[in-house]
Amino acid sequence: RAKPTVYVMDKFHPSVLEFTKENFNAITLDMPEHAEWKQKAQYLLIRSSRLTAEDIAACPNLVAIGKQGVGIDKIDADACAARGIKIFNTPGVNARAVAELVLTLAMAVGRDVGRIAKLQAEGQVVPKETCKGLILHGKTIGIIGMGNIGKTVGQMFRGAFNAPVIAYDPYMPADAWQDLEHTRVNSVEEVLRDSDVVTVHVPLTPSTRNLISYAQLKTMKKTAIVINTARGGIINEADLQTALEEGLIWGAGLDCHEQEPPSQEKYGRLWELGVVSTPHIGAATEQTQIETGTAAAKYLLEFASR
Ligand code: NAD
Repeated sequence: RAKPTVYVMDKFHPSVLEFTKENFNAITLDMPEHAEWKQKAQYLLIRSSRLTAEDIAACPNLVAIGKQGVGIDKIDADACAARGIKIFNTPGVNARAVAELVLTLAMAVGRDVGRIAKLQAEGQVVPKETCKGLILHGKTIGIIGMGNIGKTVGQMFRGAFNAPVIAYDPYMPADAWQDLEHTRVNSVEEVLRDSDVVTVHVPLTPSTRNLISYAQLKTMKKTAIVINTARGGIINEADLQTALEEGLIWGAGLDCHEQEPPSQEKYGRLWELGVVSTPHIGAATEQTQIETGTAAAKYLLEFASR
């Protein structure tokens, strides 16, 4: 049986490309025939490309998309669903990598590592009395969104800091909470009010955009840390800046930004305020890139071979 043809829409880790080429007739970005992807493609393999409703309308033969990673907010999923086009993303495969970054950011923010390390690297002597830090042991961790990443983050905070975890996820079935030693709460407000570290793990949708804005930040503890490794826009960045300027919370860690990559012009002030910010590197470990990319190609292959 002939190998199915897949149009590879982004650069992938060499191991992922190797797997794809072994199992598909893979048309990669560097090949001239790639230019015909809209007219010809039945299968697409995507890592970070955008796929709008117009793109989808211009692909008469499209049947399925393999998407490395979890977030599919750059693909018009409604336009796909209307045409019965399947999207195979890779939930769970990158959960550990993202969760480890959440702990990294929380610890870095708690100890003001970004600011202090930068000053030291610039050759300045940093007096210890100007280095204020927070202990995370035993502090309450609030998780909004208890999917693959939220659950993993909860386990890690519990294990590392003996931290009680409170969590909010209205879509999680009641029996799924039974295995978790976490306290289920019924609103974002409760999470914000009672937590020392708040971390968001929801998809970006119209209802989660600006989930944490000024009004919410105002209800948090003055010593609280907020972390966004989910998607830019879930925490309102202008409001975060105001909250930090007003001393409403301790600090913030962001892996995801409204503008990516984040520019000095837009984020300089937040960085000055001690926000520890990374350029969407939640899944950027080599192991994770290989695992998620291969999983996307594998799910697509299983579907194409049916
Ligand atoms: P998941 O689908 O397993 O979990 C998402 C959870 O959010 C689900 O349990 C869902 O019920 C819950 N949810 C949805 N809307 C909610 C709301 N309004 N309030 C509370 N809970 C809500 O996804 P995941 O694998 O845990 O990933 C979470 C998000 O992390 C993804 O959507 C993606 O945007 C982001 N992500 C970022 C990186 C990175 O590199 N920083 C990598 C992977 C994923």
